[in-house]
Amino acid sequence: MAYNLRCPCGESITALEDDFVPKVQAHLASEHPGRDYSETEIMMMAMTVPDRAVKD
Ligand SMILES: [Zn+2]
Repeated sequence: MAYNLRCPCGESITALEDDFVPKVQAHLASEHPGRDYSETEIMMMAMTVPDRAVKD
């Protein structure tokens, strides 16, 4: 399972399940200091995507 989140800044974050929350939190920390979302909040905003959508 993989997930995608389209950040309001326009960044599209896609990652496999295990990497997804840390990757979103890393984006928030580097691009949106002060914005801190819990894992639950991130997963509520996320959409599932096929694993092949993940590029590394
Ligand atoms: Zn962003």
